Amino acid sequence: MPTPIKIASRLDPIKPSITLAVTAKAAKLKADGIDVISFGAGEPDFDTPDHIKRAVIGALEKPGSGKYTDAGGTQALRAAIAAELGAVHKTTLTADNILVSCGAKHSLFNLFMAMLDPGDEVIIPAPYWVSYPDMVMLAGGKPVIIETRAEDDFAVTPEQVRAACSGRTRAILLNNPSNPTGAVYTRAQIEALAKIVVEKDILVISDDIYRQLVYGDAEYVSIAAVGPEVAARTILVDGVSKTYAMTGWRIGYTAGPVPLIKAMGKIQGQSTSNPTNVAQTATLAALTGPQDCVATMRAAFDERRVEMVKLLRAIPHVTCREPKGAFYAFPDLSYYVGKKSAEGSILDDDVQLCDWLVEVGKVAVVPGSGFGAAGHVRLSYACSMANIRDGVARLHQALTSLR
Ligand code: PMP
Ligand code: GLU
Repeated sequence: MPTPIKIASRLDPIKPSITLAVTAKAAKLKADGIDVISFGAGEPDFDTPDHIKRAVIGALEKPGSGKYTDAGGTQALRAAIAAELGAVHKTTLTADNILVSCGAKHSLFNLFMAMLDPGDEVIIPAPYWVSYPDMVMLAGGKPVIIETRAEDDFAVTPEQVRAACSGRTRAILLNNPSNPTGAVYTRAQIEALAKIVVEKDILVISDDIYRQLVYGDAEYVSIAAVGPEVAARTILVDGVSKTYAMTGWRIGYTAGPVPLIKAMGKIQGQSTSNPTNVAQTATLAALTGPQDCVATMRAAFDERRVEMVKLLRAIPHVTCREPKGAFYAFPDLSYYVGKKSAEGSILDDDVQLCDWLVEVGKVAVVPGSGFGAAGHVRLSYACSMANIRDGVARLHQALTSLR
């Protein structure tokens, strides 16, 4: 019998998150007893550091930790975030410039809902994190995708941005370091982009969630710190998920001009209310407590990065740029797209290739087409060295069996 269920048309162009889908598929196979190695999730394998957990245990023993807080986050946490981000980005921020949300994903969603009118354009350099275009569309905006090139280390050029600007452009979204490519913008590139932002009088949304995870001689450069004119046009999105191994606590935050933060707060006040009270306690402990845990995790990611890239480059016909930040490698597997497996299936695109890799090769990687870069795949190296060695060996074996 037909039911009155009808799905809103605003979901028509929206795809499910492929990073979450691949991770869930690998988890399901593992739960079914199948030995799959997953490079899917963008999630540190480390546990949340002890001093952060202890702060929460302490808070739970006192009354009040189960109560609502201010919908936009506690005053103490917003002040601590303002102090930290103010120092990093060389700008003056107060608690009023900060909104704490349920993960940086939620921060971005509130941001697009608060700033976009139907048809407003947001420039998104590809490869991009899977959720950006869909979030812009959910808010009624139009993603304008700019293709970057592996040869340019996936950096968007000022000329490309200038050419993509129209009368409807509201913002450019920068993700530095990048998920999925691991690229990190140089100082010269950031300064050139800052110039365009000011010249075109648009906003820059800087998603810096991986800013503390940079390796070798790469340096994270804040676009807001370039000068007051670009700082006035910068919205910072950040969070604790990646830096402090706190993905499941669901805390992210936005720093921006007060009217925009207030508008985002209105949305949050009418939708989720405050992010979880004790998760805010944990975040305050993360930001104000000892920082050596960050250096320890970064050093481990760096070793794994070197190993993974070396093993990927040893696979015939695979090229892989050196990722300089975040915790992803993004090799080009296009040579293997269109090839035939021993069982007789033709793997016509990277999605089919990745499906086959998980089902037959028992290794889960995320297809590049979800990031606007067909033919590539993303592997997270935020997992054990043993997984990296065994998992990339499986990838090597599976790919070289294709004809
Ligand atoms: N931005 C980027 C680039 C990400 O990779 C992620 C998640 N991995 C997020 C934002 C959102 O992170 P969270 O919601 O866990 O804070
Ligand atoms: N952002 C992480 C990733 O890229 C976690 C999953 C998600 O939120 O998309 O894998």
